Amino acid sequence: MPACCGVIGYRGREAILPMKSIAILLLVCTGLARPALAAPADTLEQRAATLHQSAIVLDTHLDTPMLFARPDWRIGDRHSFDADFSQVDYPRMLEGGLDGGFWVIYTPQGERTVAGNRAARDFGLKRLVEIREMVAANADRFEIALSADDAARIKKAGKRIVYISMENASPLASDPSLLSAYYALGLRMLGLVHSANDDFADSSTNPGGPEFNGLSDKGRALVAEANRLGLIIDLSHASDAVFDQVVELSKTPVVLSHTASAALNAHPRNIDDARLRKLAATGGVIQVNSVNQFLIKVPKNGERDAEFDRFFAIIEDGAALTVEKRKQAMRLYREIEAKYPAPQATFEDYMKHMLHILEVAGPEHVGLGADWDGGGGVSGMIDVASLPKITERLLREGYSEAQIKGVLGGNLLRVMRAVEAARQP
Ligand SMILES: [Zn+2]
Repeated sequence: MPACCGVIGYRGREAILPMKSIAILLLVCTGLARPALAAPADTLEQRAATLHQSAIVLDTHLDTPMLFARPDWRIGDRHSFDADFSQVDYPRMLEGGLDGGFWVIYTPQGERTVAGNRAARDFGLKRLVEIREMVAANADRFEIALSADDAARIKKAGKRIVYISMENASPLASDPSLLSAYYALGLRMLGLVHSANDDFADSSTNPGGPEFNGLSDKGRALVAEANRLGLIIDLSHASDAVFDQVVELSKTPVVLSHTASAALNAHPRNIDDARLRKLAATGGVIQVNSVNQFLIKVPKNGERDAEFDRFFAIIEDGAALTVEKRKQAMRLYREIEAKYPAPQATFEDYMKHMLHILEVAGPEHVGLGADWDGGGGVSGMIDVASLPKITERLLREGYSEAQIKGVLGGNLLRVMRAVEAARQP
């Protein structure tokens, strides 16, 4: 029974099969099983494993490109969160059945001056090139995806899917017409803003509050241009007013690429139930985030935050992050956690958000956007190798296989198709 033995041999499934199932499968494969035992395909774990591997599994917010500039970091090697904080690499994608997703051009918001805009422009283009270089250097394992249909084709070819997205439109501040150049080079999703206001939109977490009460005129023009080009608009990080305005303005459904529920934790980065319903009513999708302080209440601690600023200052400059500096950062991280312990979210906390959002928005409007390599990861799901747990849990909750396939990637691809159909080149 080669197919059966193939199941056991597959790393991605092996990781989530309990010992009992493996034992039964071995008996079946070696012909030792009695007929009464030969029904492993009916166990929930087995169904979950098969479903997870057959689905197109996409995450809409992979911050992994931040690591591409690290001198000793290669996507083909297996890393671990404990050793270098990373959460996504090729071996762990295989193990967790993650087919790919949106790899992010994240640009920290700098000064909104001529010089600051130029710096953002250079930063964004460099990151875009780094993503393309990663794919070029690993062409047997990764491929740039440009359309919704590319996802199935690339998966079938045995490669991982690389859509490109932008988080924070500040690289376009000095020249929004650059967006068409980004599109030509593979950009397919545009996040308007990050933690502070930019020229286009208010952020949900801007220290000084709103500036435009939503979008600026430049932001409205950018939304129209994204619609015209065929880019998905991402409203994670945008203020509620921006959300309301873009949902009205955009000709196509929008995505929250990495956002959690405000009903469960009233953090400004999260979205409330009324807006979730609005998102669903307009055909959009929310991809559930796993960042600790978005999932659970974490009391403000200025000293801890200041220490973490020091830590981020070390790790954010990827090109300068030598092995020695990384070790220094790891030491600092452990010191801070020991000195200022904070509540830590678990896999159950993540699932609470996902199940709530599923109930409010409906299973056709939910997906995965756990903020890997950007602050996501919880106890019990610290990297992408653990993703099959979500599929198993959703099956256990009674969601159908079709609904779960939607959550794993199908819902997002539906939005992408709608955006492609509305393109007016
Ligand atoms: Zn983010």
